[in-house]
Amino acid sequence: MRIDVVSIFPELFDAPLRTSLLGKSIAARRLEVNVIDLRAHGLGPHRSVDDATYGGGAGMVMRPEPIFTAVEEVAEESSHIVLLSPRGTRLDQTGVKRLAGHGHLILICGRYEGVDERVAEHLADDEISIGDYVLAGGELAALVVIEAVSRLLPGALGNEGSLADESHTGGRLEYPQFTRPASYRGWSVPEVLLSGDHGAVERWRRDQAERITRERRPDLLGP
Ligand code: SAM
Repeated sequence: MRIDVVSIFPELFDAPLRTSLLGKSIAARRLEVNVIDLRAHGLGPHRSVDDATYGGGAGMVMRPEPIFTAVEEVAEESSHIVLLSPRGTRLDQTGVKRLAGHGHLILICGRYEGVDERVAEHLADDEISIGDYVLAGGELAALVVIEAVSRLLPGALGNEGSLADESHTGGRLEYPQFTRPASYRGWSVPEVLLSGDHGAVERWRRDQAERITRERRPDLLGP
């Protein structure tokens, strides 16, 4: 899979793309991430990418021309172009799966007061929010999308079973997990997990997942 990211702060991507699962996926060529410096497409001698808001108001808005040029330089017929925006569709695991199904994503990171509306109207295929809060820019949101999508790529996780059982897959939150020691400060691991009875462990995990989901996110259980 290939992901192009358009940003005025490409350096924000350096460490996350080198580290852990993302670093490994990129080294193994499961994933190619290319960060495009929007300033290279900026206007005039100052490589300007923003301007004042028509109609007046606080702050600057990102101009459309540098974004259109940067995106059109890498876009192909099959590319899926995403504008990161707090006004977008809120991302969930179903949305992540959908994004992972595209061979090529282009992620546009806004800054300042946001992006000229013509980018949303005439360039982007999708507007995605990572949650109901406002960040200073789209870069961390783009990294969230990249990491969530990269976990779903074949071969990305050592154990594909991790995907089947985890929270937000199958409409349930995950059951509690324990590791050694069996007793810590007097808090013991549930007996059933030490029993070696795989059927009983399975049933306990299913019940726990159900309980935790009902307590914390009843909306996931449906009507
Ligand atoms: N004025 C805009 C509004 O009220 O909707 C907020 C602009 S925000 C300060 C600047 C940029 O950060 C946005 O253009 C977007 O790219 C990014 N951003 C902020 N919050 C986000 C979120 N929850 N999800 C995705 N991107 C976000």
